[in-house]
Amino acid sequence: MTIRRNPTRPVPIGNITIGDGHPIAVQSMTATKTQDIDATVAQAEALRQRGAGVVRIAVDSTKDAEALAEIRRQTTANLAVDLQENFRLAELVAPHVDKVRYNPGHLYHHARELTWQDKVKYLIDVAGSNGCAVRIGVNCGSVDPAKKEKYAANDSITPMLESALEHCELVDSLGFHHFVVSLKDSDPSKVVEVNKRFAEQRPDVPLHLGVTEAGMPPDGIIKTRIAFEQLIGKGIGDTVRVSLTLPNPRKPEEIDAGLEIVADIQAGRVRSVVRFDDTKLNIISCPSCSRVENEAFVDLAAKVKEMSAYAQDYAITIAVMGCRVNGPGETDDADLGLWCGPAKVNLKKGEEPLGAFGYDEILPKLKAELDALVDAKKRM
Ligand code: SF4
Repeated sequence: MTIRRNPTRPVPIGNITIGDGHPIAVQSMTATKTQDIDATVAQAEALRQRGAGVVRIAVDSTKDAEALAEIRRQTTANLAVDLQENFRLAELVAPHVDKVRYNPGHLYHHARELTWQDKVKYLIDVAGSNGCAVRIGVNCGSVDPAKKEKYAANDSITPMLESALEHCELVDSLGFHHFVVSLKDSDPSKVVEVNKRFAEQRPDVPLHLGVTEAGMPPDGIIKTRIAFEQLIGKGIGDTVRVSLTLPNPRKPEEIDAGLEIVADIQAGRVRSVVRFDDTKLNIISCPSCSRVENEAFVDLAAKVKEMSAYAQDYAITIAVMGCRVNGPGETDDADLGLWCGPAKVNLKKGEEPLGAFGYDEILPKLKAELDALVDAKKRM
């Protein structure tokens, strides 16, 4: 089966090119502390040798940026960084990486003195002058609040789509074209819909595909495969990441899974009979990165999965996130959300905080909330 890929623009990232019919690049992210240079270099190299086209590293401070300069010297992997709200770090990191990712949803905070347009102009200027590509990475958990308000609460897709299109238009108007877009959600069907709609309107912009917080294998791989089959099979997608919650020291399973899924789809070995069953319990968990503040996070995600198995026949979503940076926002859409701090785990029911509990206390608290939800579902 020959898949006719969308006619996207070429975007050079280090020694590879994304888009324009180039092979679909598989990406991953280091989960080590960025300032642990030896461990981060070892993980970046392991990912590169396994076939990673791009390796992403989280940078949250000037110390992380200093470590990045040394990591750059010690690895030949194509490197990307993920900027959160501290967009000014771009100046420090861009000389050492091949791609900078910004999240439009993070540019609306603290916007008193600078508009989001000013921040994008600054980021594009820094990326352009350092020869970096850019990813406009829209995420379901952190969408422009004004766009969210404009649409009904049950339409989470249009705000993401509008945000991506608006940023593309601005970046294009600045004369910068080395950018890709990602539109990620933890629900594979939403990933399919939002990416299809984007590709209809901007078939020229390369897409980075991923199901965010897909969780632990095998469920995380299955969710991702479901989305990728429907997108890559239709020519949509130029680079991919399979986000899996994995124990440390993390092995390159994300790369193995990504390469296998892409190869299967391109060879016509699709399993589209596999559907994500949204009538069942859904555990979503982040893939972890250098921002994890307590190594017990991955173990906790596994225990949550095990403890909640009794509720598998109920349409309940539990989210388990590794840090305070993305945890609070990314758990909003779950029925029950946990996000991990250094000593405590924060528990939420929908958007309502229920308190912070020790790592040895959280499971019984979660179970009590889950029991109540299951009872309520039984009565419906
Ligand atoms: Fe990293 Fe936090 Fe996202 Fe998990 S939720 S991948 S720890 S930034």
